[in-house]
Amino acid sequence: MMDFVYEGLPTRVVFAKGGRARAAAELKRLGVTRALVLSTPPQEEQVRAFAEEHLGDRVAGVFAGAAMHTPVEVTEEALTVVRESGAEATLAFGGGSTIGLGKAIALRTGLPQLAIPTTFAGSEMTPILGQTEAGRKTTLRDAKVLPQAVIYDPDLIATLPTFIAGPSGMNAMAHAIEALYAENANPIVSLMAQESIRALGSALPKMAADSADEAARSEALYGAWLAGLCLGSVGMAIHHKICHTLGGSFDLPHADVHCLMIPYSSAYNREAAPEAMRLAAGALDAGDAPDALYGLLQKLGVKKSLAELGMAPADLDRAAAIAVENPYYNPRPVTREGVREMLQAAYEGRPP
Ligand code: NAD
Repeated sequence: MMDFVYEGLPTRVVFAKGGRARAAAELKRLGVTRALVLSTPPQEEQVRAFAEEHLGDRVAGVFAGAAMHTPVEVTEEALTVVRESGAEATLAFGGGSTIGLGKAIALRTGLPQLAIPTTFAGSEMTPILGQTEAGRKTTLRDAKVLPQAVIYDPDLIATLPTFIAGPSGMNAMAHAIEALYAENANPIVSLMAQESIRALGSALPKMAADSADEAARSEALYGAWLAGLCLGSVGMAIHHKICHTLGGSFDLPHADVHCLMIPYSSAYNREAAPEAMRLAAGALDAGDAPDALYGLLQKLGVKKSLAELGMAPADLDRAAAIAVENPYYNPRPVTREGVREMLQAAYEGRPP
C-alpha cells in the first residue's frame, strides 16, 4: 500500500535559451531595485559582461570571491559588500560554489535570491547549505536558503569545459539515482528522478561527443534541474555519504568523485533496492543500472578510477572506516567490509 509524504519546493523556474536576458524582469518581479551579483574569480569577466548587457541600473555591485564549499570568511567579506552597496537581493551567476554564497548571505540577511546556474550541480533547487569554517564542513537545511527564482539558460553551459561538464552532469545523475531508493522516496519525486536519469543519460554522451550540440546541452540542463529537485526533496544515501568522505577527508574533487562513484554505489544497492534499479535501468534503456552508468562514464572523457583521481591505496581502509562512522539510511546495511570492497573496485576502475 502507498504511504508517503510529499512537500513541494516553492521556487519559480524560467527555462529558456537566452533566458539570462530576463534577469532584470525577474528581479523586478521580486520587488528588487538593485542586486549584488555573485561569481567565482574565473567567471568574473563573463558575469560583468552579463550584468552590463542585461541588468542596467539594477546592479548594486559585483562580488567575485565565491569559493568551493562556501568558506565562512568569504561569506563575511561578501556581507560587508552587501551592506555597503545597499543591495536588496543577490544574483548568483555560476555553479554550486557561487549559488552556495548566495544561500549563505540569505541565511544571515533574509535577502531574496535569483540564481542563474552555469553547471549541473543543482544547488539552486535545494534548501541545503554546506559551509566550511576552520577546515570543517557542516551542512544545514533551512527554507530560508532556497532561491526564490532560478533562470536556466542552456547557452551558459556552452563555456563549460568537457572536464567539468561530464563530472557535473554525473553529479546530477547521482542525485536522481539515489532519490529512487531514498528513505522518504515518493511517487512524484520518483517520476522526476526517472525523467532526469533519462535526459542526462541521453544528453551527456552527445555533449561529450560534440560540444556544439545545443539540443544536448538543453536536455542535460533540464535533467540537472530535475535532479536538483530530487536532491532538495528527499534524503540521500550511501553514494552521497561516501562522496562527502572522499571529498572532505581526502581532498578529492567534488564533482569528479560523484561521477566516478555512482556506478559503484548503485551496484552496492543492486540487490537491496530492486524496484529503484528497475526504474533506473528503464530510464537508461538498459538491462542493469550500475552497468549502464559504468558504460556512460566510459563515454564522457572523465577520470575513470580513484587511482586516476589521485587517491593513495593506503587511504582506502581509512575511507571505509570514516564512511561507516555515523549510521545512516541505506537500502543495504552499510558495513566496513562492503564499503571497502566498493572502494577497491572504484580504485581499480573495474566494472561494478
Ligand atoms: P563550482 O561552482 O565550484 O564550479 C567549478 C568551476 O567551474 C569554477 O571554477 C567555476 O568558476 C567554473 N564554471 C562554472 N560554470 C562555468 C561555465 N559555464 N563556464 C566556464 N566555467 C564555469 O562547481 P559545482 O560543481 O557547480 O558546485 C560545487 C559546489 O556546490 C560544492 O561546494 C558543493 O558542495 C556545492 N553543492 C551544493 C548543493 C546543495 O544543495 N547545497 C548541491 C550541489 C553542489
